Amino acid sequence: MAERKPGFDTLALHAGASPDPATGARITPIYQTTAYVFDDVKHAADLFALRAFGNIYTRIMNPTQAVLESKVAALEGGSAALAVASGHAAQMLAFHTMMQPGDEFVAARQLYGGSINQFAQSFKSFGWHVVWADATDPASIEKALSPKTKAIFIESIANPGGIITDIGAVAKIARAAGVPLIVDNTLATPYLCKPIEHGANIVLHSLTKFMGGHGNSMGGVIVDGGNFDWSASGRYPLLSEPNGSYHGLKLHETFGNIAFAIAARVLGLRDLGPAIAPMNAFLILTGMETLGLRMQRHCDNALKVAQWLKTNPNVAWVSYAGLPDDKYHALAKKYCPKGAGSVFTFGLKGGYDAGVKAVSSVKLFSHLANLGDARSLIIHPASTTHSQLSPEQLKLAGATPDVVRLSIGIEDVGDIIADLEQAIS
Ligand code: PLP
Repeated sequence: MAERKPGFDTLALHAGASPDPATGARITPIYQTTAYVFDDVKHAADLFALRAFGNIYTRIMNPTQAVLESKVAALEGGSAALAVASGHAAQMLAFHTMMQPGDEFVAARQLYGGSINQFAQSFKSFGWHVVWADATDPASIEKALSPKTKAIFIESIANPGGIITDIGAVAKIARAAGVPLIVDNTLATPYLCKPIEHGANIVLHSLTKFMGGHGNSMGGVIVDGGNFDWSASGRYPLLSEPNGSYHGLKLHETFGNIAFAIAARVLGLRDLGPAIAPMNAFLILTGMETLGLRMQRHCDNALKVAQWLKTNPNVAWVSYAGLPDDKYHALAKKYCPKGAGSVFTFGLKGGYDAGVKAVSSVKLFSHLANLGDARSLIIHPASTTHSQLSPEQLKLAGATPDVVRLSIGIEDVGDIIADLEQAIS
């Protein structure tokens, strides 16, 4: 009989985790230690030279973090993963592993505002240049490519506009150009969308959001799809060329389909340092055990709220790909068949002033700069998360002044709607 493949909810609970070998503790312990005792001098030397896998120092690896990494890799269908201190740290290390000063990458304009800022401002000082394209028009991504392009970056469900990116079409463009496709899958999570199945090479998450799910810990992760040839073009020297800090070891040649995750760890994380705290890895792991249950409830509630908003006389428009008449509904059905996520935007007929009033009048919703909490959240992107952007960038990112963004939680949906109703009216 063929071996049965475990389902998503089984993996969410069990992948990567087993009773603690030292104590029998059923739950993965918080390994709150900075360093690890070596067996002997040879063991220490082997670990330092990457001849053996094992723990050295918690800036680079930690057993609680390792369980989190295995679980995310299993859920995304990747070959390996690296957990780090935040979503932004994951982005920095992913690019550090593939970019040299003077290189370019193409990114969709429709991204979390902080990512737009990170790419356009901070990455510039590393000599990494972003070229913007339109997530809704894969041809514009193709047009933005140049011989200096090292990667393409998109979000699966884009923040804040509720845009669903045609991952398969963008993956085809990336494959033809011989560059990796990086997908930020934060808003979808692997419960709704698995970008690697659609041709992505690297998947990133802010674990701070739905993956942890309870608004209590920062974290990020890089998932290695294990499906990109880092040596073919000679354009990814950190992976393909002899490495000076490991006695000339070639990381891709040595580690094959987990080379990217290894390189991000033993070069990027080692030298730049944004390690995840073991406590945060533990809290995110606990949250991830219920990822499937939560995401389904998030999506079911979001659809009901979006349907209700559509019928409200004070509402000018609703942008939620779960609605059958939405522009992105067909793409949502293809890439997120279980639901279109729980983050979406709407505008009130009263424009900016009415939006600000609604955000100030909620009682159950929390007005704050986060998403993907079990609780319902509300924000006005133009004055907060996207406030560093120019009016032109705000328009292109789907964050014009009238936009109110919701992250629908898992409360009783009647209570969510009642709160919005009193806030809007
Ligand atoms: N990607 C998306 C889609 C986000 O919404 C965020 C944060 O809001 C990030 C990345 C950055 O993650 P973090 O805040 O964990 O650094």
